Amino acid sequence: MKRLLSIVAILALIIGGLFFVAVNTVPGQNFLLDRAASAMAAQPEARLDGLRVFICGSAAPIPAPGRAQACVAVLTPEHYFVVDVGAGSANNLGLAALPADQLDGVLLTHFHSDHIADLPTINVQAWATGHDGPLKVYGPPGVQQVIDGYNMVLAHDRAYRSEHHGMSFMPPEYGVMQAVEHAEEATLEFGELTITAFEADHSPIDPAVSYRFDYKGRSVVITGDTIVTDRLRTMVDDANLLLTDALSLPIVQTMKKGAEAGGGDRLAHILGDIQDYHAHTDHVIELTKSTGVGMTALYHLVPGPRNKVMENIFRRGFTDNMVLTHDGMWFELPAGSDAIDIID
Ligand SMILES: [Zn+2]
Ligand SMILES: [Zn+2]
Repeated sequence: MKRLLSIVAILALIIGGLFFVAVNTVPGQNFLLDRAASAMAAQPEARLDGLRVFICGSAAPIPAPGRAQACVAVLTPEHYFVVDVGAGSANNLGLAALPADQLDGVLLTHFHSDHIADLPTINVQAWATGHDGPLKVYGPPGVQQVIDGYNMVLAHDRAYRSEHHGMSFMPPEYGVMQAVEHAEEATLEFGELTITAFEADHSPIDPAVSYRFDYKGRSVVITGDTIVTDRLRTMVDDANLLLTDALSLPIVQTMKKGAEAGGGDRLAHILGDIQDYHAHTDHVIELTKSTGVGMTALYHLVPGPRNKVMENIFRRGFTDNMVLTHDGMWFELPAGSDAIDIID
């Protein structure tokens, strides 16, 4: 026994020493950097035939550690779309090494800042990685104004990058985003992938839409910001996966009381205003129980949980097919199967 303990102690010392050398010496740091650079350049592995869904942002404007604002990426072997790009989400997409050069488009559910803030960053990612043409940004009426504004703001940035890296390497006309407006009820076809836009109720914000993706018999609905409506109920009834915004009334009401008691009048005002334009967790649970949806996953959490206790309050009353998401989570829906695999 003593001998075993000595061996373990010696091994621990060796491993600790190697770790110290690797992290704190110039040769060690260079070795690690070299390995990391090679890993960054590696191509992502082959994609499964089906729908792949990546949570690139699970929070709302209220700051939450480790959570970017609203963003969900959807991939098939042939296509790659991102629904909303809130602040911090482009960083998550980059860290996950999603192929910005192959991004078919960004779909905007509506034009609140927590859904559009990272448009400049995702656009530069696409442009710099060799996207073949301007990045398309789809959305309901109003999208043209949003994109015109961003394109104007980014005029200097475009000129800097084209002149610095070369006009043929980063053509300025590819750095301009292209707005693609669609009606609140619309069907967009991309080969075997169908994207259906349908009306959301984020009143008084208008327009606001949700999106449904259908590919080879698998389907996912992404709400953006909405309360539970009959239209949503119809669209999720035969869907495999629902990704929905969710507001925890117990947390928001408690935060409002706390703000009032602490003299935070403006915060209390806003926490009062937002209570009736997001789906309450109780309503999401009811929707899940009363429809045929395969799985319900909550993102765009209001507020984004800051600790385990808040996460558990969000999970109160969850059924077995409900999940609380976090940034970096994957869902895989293989074609020809009923499976929904969660990769954490
Ligand atoms: Zn939002
Ligand atoms: Zn909103």
